[in-house]
Amino acid sequence: PEVPVGAILAGAARRFGDRTAFRHHDDELTFSRLWTQACRFANGLVGRGVRPGDRVALVMPNCLAFPVAYYGLLLAGATFVPVNPLMPEPAVRAQIEDAEAKVVLKAADVATVGQGQPDTPPDVEIDIHHHLAHLAYTGGTTGLSKGVRLPHRNVVVNTLQFACWQTGGVPALDDEGGLVLNQVNDPGEYRARVGAGVAINLTPWFHAMGTIAGLNVTILAGTSVVLHDRFDPVAYLADAEKRQVTYVGGAPALFAGLLACPAIHTTDLSSVTGIGSGAAPMPMEMTRALQRLMPKAVIVEGYGLTEVTMGAASSPVAVSATRKVGTVGLPVFDTEIKVVPVEGGEEPLPAGERGEVCIRGPQVMLGYHNRPADTADVLVDGWLHTGDIGVLDADGYLSIVDRKKDMLIYKGYNVYPRELEELLVAHPGVVMAAVVGRKSVEVGELPVAFVVPARPDVTAEQLMADINAKVVPYKRLREVILTDQIPVSAAGKILKRELRQLLLESS
Ligand code: ATP
Repeated sequence: PEVPVGAILAGAARRFGDRTAFRHHDDELTFSRLWTQACRFANGLVGRGVRPGDRVALVMPNCLAFPVAYYGLLLAGATFVPVNPLMPEPAVRAQIEDAEAKVVLKAADVATVGQGQPDTPPDVEIDIHHHLAHLAYTGGTTGLSKGVRLPHRNVVVNTLQFACWQTGGVPALDDEGGLVLNQVNDPGEYRARVGAGVAINLTPWFHAMGTIAGLNVTILAGTSVVLHDRFDPVAYLADAEKRQVTYVGGAPALFAGLLACPAIHTTDLSSVTGIGSGAAPMPMEMTRALQRLMPKAVIVEGYGLTEVTMGAASSPVAVSATRKVGTVGLPVFDTEIKVVPVEGGEEPLPAGERGEVCIRGPQVMLGYHNRPADTADVLVDGWLHTGDIGVLDADGYLSIVDRKKDMLIYKGYNVYPRELEELLVAHPGVVMAAVVGRKSVEVGELPVAFVVPARPDVTAEQLMADINAKVVPYKRLREVILTDQIPVSAAGKILKRELRQLLLESS
């Protein structure tokens, strides 16, 4: 459907009305209250001179004010600029300047904007194909974060691609143009998985996975979401049991934390019917461990990047296709994926061969903000070059091997850290692991593992011996460093540049 993002909330407000959309501590917001407040906020912005196309930056953590401001500014025709409030002040300022934001809002500002305003949306024209809904910023995992131009169409399409792929719902418009999902497949499964679901949210809404999966998909599906301020595995598990949570979603770092928490073995998680992971690779052993603990749950892995709004591939749940552990599934609807040679060229490689993953579809960005050269580097004839190395199997399932930038070269051989990480996290002595290269003039780069051990008696020597017994000589680990913690970004990605820095400082 050709509707702006606001239609997602409009449809949900009519369909789910008094149901709780979000709960934070003792406060809650129903779907219809959220709609009313967003409309007032939108009118408040228009009253203060915000015009269609103006950029509004939200510098706030996940809280009840966030969705009010987010949908409100979109209803006013403004563009959402998500800013991670945990960044140091100069980085926040730099991003706001880069985005040329006209208005900058913190959570406390939101209450005042909508005061005394009408509770129907303002009358603004939105061209869904060109008018930016988000000026989103890449995670900055590998370098400078870049502004990504995403019009309304991208956000609506990507929300539908994931909501439909994972629930079997079909999109439709209600009488007033609100976007709704009608169930087609097995209605029981639809309700069990999301329709009347309850989830705990920790995925930051200033990141692609948060804004699309954590906000728009859950609103469209009518999920009740409980917000936690920070990740505390004990509190998470206690709340999951108390609220009979049906869906557990997040980055693999969240699951690693839950699996390492002894309470997981005594918590009743039988209400969980869906588990969703994304943003970083999910080790196969993690998938298996989660499945053993929650046998009823369907485990879904999604793959994407800010440049495709959020996602391009996901395990097929609602379509009659098999899920394959270790892959990120099939391209979602209307999306093509090809793998091309890492050295360059647009000709797709045959199935089974590794290369750079390229994506084409309606969720691909218009381009980077103010960076025409970067845009030209990654967008070729509508195909987005992702910088990820992957492989398609004969059935079209995609596996992500690693990031191009994380690949190591040892004596001319390609070493993919992820292969070593998979072996490490499958080891009973390991909670979390990351492999990076130590520069060496003689051989190029030497694989070094940072490991959070599961027990105090785990030794670096033993781990290294166990892993190296399983790999060909050029892939061998040259060093294992035991540590209490591996740095992860707000979105849950391991920050390898920080680990590389540690190695540089120690050499
Ligand atoms: P920057 O581009 O600024 O360094 P970033 O790459 O972290 O930041 P995001 O858009 O947040 O920017 O992250 C996208 C990347 O996350 C993908 O390119 C991919 O490397 C990784 N990723 C996402 N989902 C998965 C997954 N399921 N498996 C493996 N990797 C994933």
